[in-house]
Amino acid sequence: MLSTESLTCPWCLAPISLVIDASAGDQSYIEDCEVCCQPMLVHVRMSGEELLSVEAERDE
Ligand SMILES: [Zn+2]
Repeated sequence: MLSTESLTCPWCLAPISLVIDASAGDQSYIEDCEVCCQPMLVHVRMSGEELLSVEAERDE
């Protein structure tokens, strides 16, 4: 099950959208911003099948 979430890049503050595999449970991974290509550390928190929160921070 894929879910699309809108975030703000922690580097360039551009609005970005991430496709999240909501069937994978809690996850943290590195994804490059599609605008500035800086690495974001994305934290996904799930409750069962429900997406609780998606946050991105600078990976530095
Ligand atoms: Zn960016």
